[in-house]
Amino acid sequence: MNQTVRVRFAPSPTGYLHIGGLRTALYNYLFAKKSGGTFILRIEDTDQKRYVAAAEDYIINSLKWAGIEADESPQKPGNHGPYRQSERKELYKKYVQQLLDEDKAYYAFDSTEELDAMRERLKEAGSSHQQYDAHTRGDMKNSLTLSSEETKAWLESGKPYVVRFKMPKGESIQFQDIVRGEVTFSSDQLDDKILFKADGMPTYHMANIVDDHLMEISHVIRGEEWLSSTPLHVMLYKAFNWQAPTFAHLPLILKPEGKGKLSKRDGEKHGFPVFPLKWFNEEKDVEQPGFKEIGFLPEAFCNMIAFFGWNPGTEQELFSLTELTDAFSLERIQKGGARFDWDKAKWYNQQHLQNLDNEALESLLKESNSDLLEGKENDFVSKAIALVKERMVFPGDFKKEAGFLFEAPSSYDEKNVRKRYKEQNIPHFEALIEAFNGLQNWESAEIETTLKSYLEQNELGFGAILPGFRLMLTGLMGGPSVFDIAAIIGKEETLHRMKTGMTRFLEIKAAS
Ligand code: GLU
Repeated sequence: MNQTVRVRFAPSPTGYLHIGGLRTALYNYLFAKKSGGTFILRIEDTDQKRYVAAAEDYIINSLKWAGIEADESPQKPGNHGPYRQSERKELYKKYVQQLLDEDKAYYAFDSTEELDAMRERLKEAGSSHQQYDAHTRGDMKNSLTLSSEETKAWLESGKPYVVRFKMPKGESIQFQDIVRGEVTFSSDQLDDKILFKADGMPTYHMANIVDDHLMEISHVIRGEEWLSSTPLHVMLYKAFNWQAPTFAHLPLILKPEGKGKLSKRDGEKHGFPVFPLKWFNEEKDVEQPGFKEIGFLPEAFCNMIAFFGWNPGTEQELFSLTELTDAFSLERIQKGGARFDWDKAKWYNQQHLQNLDNEALESLLKESNSDLLEGKENDFVSKAIALVKERMVFPGDFKKEAGFLFEAPSSYDEKNVRKRYKEQNIPHFEALIEAFNGLQNWESAEIETTLKSYLEQNELGFGAILPGFRLMLTGLMGGPSVFDIAAIIGKEETLHRMKTGMTRFLEIKAAS
């Protein structure tokens, strides 16, 4: 590629940024980094009615957390600013004027009622396109049908008006989309889109293409929902005699069931977030966690969203952000929608967590489990972490997985105590306490050998002792190796827990 790559993420700050938006940002970022290009963040805030002030901060904070850093943005202006469309307002007027002067756009004065009446008329006549276009503009109230004096008078009167694009008739509009190949539309399907509104602001279409041109955007990588706007954009580029960028429209992220776009409701239904950061659920009047608060690592999150619609073409599934950059290509983006899979999402996090080096994992866990880990001996903490590392999906799982290393059980899985702890084995537990007490090296292997040879000598099966032993040490049935647990908590604590367990188990059994 010899073209200079400049790409942009151009969100509208109208609400919380969805993971689909972050994926768009990520693909733009990866493509820019891979090509030695520039990644730009542009805030598209021309729609004053839908503008939400906090949404821009949410976008910035989400990108920051994910590690997707823009080279040029409102916060880090380059040579193509401003990077917020509301601050570029004056600039668009000149371009609208150019189209008006060249007879490629016109003023329109129709009221809502007049527009409705036009659609109604066309509907009754059985027309398939009930729109403002080459067939209808001649019957409407605009600068093409009014005299220039009337038009001038209207404009000077301060009454509302819009500027519409004069979509040419009968043209075949073709463009190459990296994901979809050649895309063809007929200009007859398209209407005379509004480019400029009565409030003095350009519409999305106008601002978007003027900015992409002025910011020298080489590739427009955006969601599939914008594909149907692209023929209009192509026609606008043509009207200005500008070269259109290369397009790549990304597939939808689908519901876990596979049909329809993933929405906030799906998240609520299945209990997973669809927003990167915490957000306020107005309907329920509560703050809800995003991926960050749930415990996703930024790299695991990027790894997961990268795979929504892209794959490297190899078996490799785990990638750091740098590895993603190296492996990424627009050509490997799929056309079909990508289904959201919560189990897989968690898998990415579990794997990334496990692959952190010990130091990084320790400091992460110390942050999220300070009540448990503060003031604890380093060696003990390291052993505890190593023991349960593979069992955690989120850093917050540490307490659930390793809590028993720090505190003796305060309760026991009573159902299993009743089922697995047999009175006839009490003398064996007593003998084991003796045997353990005599051990010089309190190590996992020693403890295991001692217990196993005791079982052998007494012709006992594992089931007679092991479940009880585990329940005594942890209160639970599942978990990591019980010998490792005993080794970590130490001899004294092990023996103490065994003795307490024996007393408590008899009480539990007596109570049932
Ligand atoms: N402002 C549009 C959005 O919110 C940008 C679409 C585009 O990338 O052209 O998604």
